[in-house]
Amino acid sequence: MDQAVGRAVDIGANAFALFTKNQRQWKAKPLDEKVIAAFKKACQHHGFKPEQMLPHDSYLINLGHPEAEGLAKSRAAFLDEMQRCEQLGLTLLNFHPGSHLRRISESECLKIIAESINEALSQTQGVTAVIENTAGQGSNLGYRFEQLAEIIEQVDDKSRVGVCIDTCHAFAGGYDLRTGESTQAVLDEFGDVVGFEYLRGMHLNDAKSTLGSRVDRHHSLGQGNIGSEAFVAIMQDARTDGIPMILETIEPAIWDQEIAWLRAQCVSPLV
Ligand SMILES: [Zn+2]
Repeated sequence: MDQAVGRAVDIGANAFALFTKNQRQWKAKPLDEKVIAAFKKACQHHGFKPEQMLPHDSYLINLGHPEAEGLAKSRAAFLDEMQRCEQLGLTLLNFHPGSHLRRISESECLKIIAESINEALSQTQGVTAVIENTAGQGSNLGYRFEQLAEIIEQVDDKSRVGVCIDTCHAFAGGYDLRTGESTQAVLDEFGDVVGFEYLRGMHLNDAKSTLGSRVDRHHSLGQGNIGSEAFVAIMQDARTDGIPMILETIEPAIWDQEIAWLRAQCVSPLV
């Protein structure tokens, strides 16, 4: 993890995402004190503050699981992820809300997700649960801003719940990001339905998948079905200032160029 900081610096990033354990496994051994110290030291050395880092939880976790056993396993794993963030001095944890697996209704599933968040927040301090919008593949919820709002509404501590907007997921979920104007309209809609006070991060990805396809396929910026205009509009929109923007684009070799291009779109200099 301490290497994540150095890699971010190498490609000119002033924000980055990371996993605090293997994202494809349920169990992980507790964080080593030496790893924690090295990570904190690297952050301090390179001037990364907690709000510039957006850790992501394991892909196996389903906080809206319709069955008791699966739900308990997911909740325990999510609590562990939150505690790892606490130990590392990280204040945000990004996760996909959950899936109803076609066994319960959408609203029941959203309620279970909110209860899962409440449970994790009540057992931790200082870490915000950051819900990511999804592409809506399979029975994944969170592809409509209304669904994110419905979860937030049922979270007790609203100071520790937030949202990360993934542009590829939004596009696949039916939000038109093909022009600067349509992108601004989508951001307006987010402001109306969820509220920018909850925005804690963005995942900037172009899409191989098409508008409303509910298929999650990322592409490099400007090379997919979204195109460049959306990213120009986002970089120039003051409502997204001061939040970590993370690339999950498909060509790591050009991340440095994508970052430089994004920076060049800013009308005001970035901090
Ligand atoms: Zn994402």
